[in-house]
Amino acid sequence: MIRFFNTIDQIEHFIRSLQWQASAALNCPHCARTDQWFSHGFQYQQLGIHSRAITGKRLICSNRFGHLGCGRTWRLYLCERTPFAHYGCTQFFAFILALFFNTSTRNTVEHAYRLATGANNARHAWRWLNRLRLQLPAYRAVFFDRPAQLDTNTLDAKSTGDNDIHFLIQTTLSQLFQRLPSSADTHNLCALFQLKTQIRFI
Ligand SMILES: [Zn+2]
Repeated sequence: MIRFFNTIDQIEHFIRSLQWQASAALNCPHCARTDQWFSHGFQYQQLGIHSRAITGKRLICSNRFGHLGCGRTWRLYLCERTPFAHYGCTQFFAFILALFFNTSTRNTVEHAYRLATGANNARHAWRWLNRLRLQLPAYRAVFFDRPAQLDTNTLDAKSTGDNDIHFLIQTTLSQLFQRLPSSADTHNLCALFQLKTQIRFI
C-alpha cells in the first residue's frame, strides 16, 4: 500500500486525487473500500516543548455522515520519516554509514549509534542492528526483483555468527546503494528505499 511521499504537496495531491480517481488507488487495509477516504489532518513529531515538525498526514476511511467506511485511519508519511520510530531516516542512515562504510576507523555498534543519534546511552544500538537484520529479505528483494514479503531461511541468525551477520548486512546495503542511486531530492538510502518500495526501512 502506498505510504511514503517526497513532499507534503505530493501527499495532499494524492489525497485530492482519491476523491476523483476512478481506479482504486488505495484499498483500506481493514474493510477494502477504496472510495471512503477523507483527509484527517496532519501528523507531527514533537521536537521539544514548543516545536514540532510535520511528518505526514492521516486519512480516515469515514463511517460518519452516511459514509460507508470502517472508521479506521491510515497514515501517509514523508519519506524521511520512519513509521513507529522516534528517529528518522537521517539518524538510521548515519548509523549505517558509521557502522558499515566508515573507511578510516571501524566503529562499534554502540559508537555508531552514539554518532548517529547524539545519545549518551547506546542501549538501543543492538536493537537497531537487529532491525536491519530482520529487514534483510525486504532489502534483498529490491535487487532480486522478488516480492518484498519473501521468506529467506538463509538469513537465520541462529545458524550464522555475528561476524557473518555483520558482513551480510554490509553486503546487502552495498547492493542496495547500487540499486537505489541518489536522486535530486535525496541521497539518503533509507528514504530512497521507502519511496521505491513503499515499505518502511526499519
Ligand atoms: Zn475501511
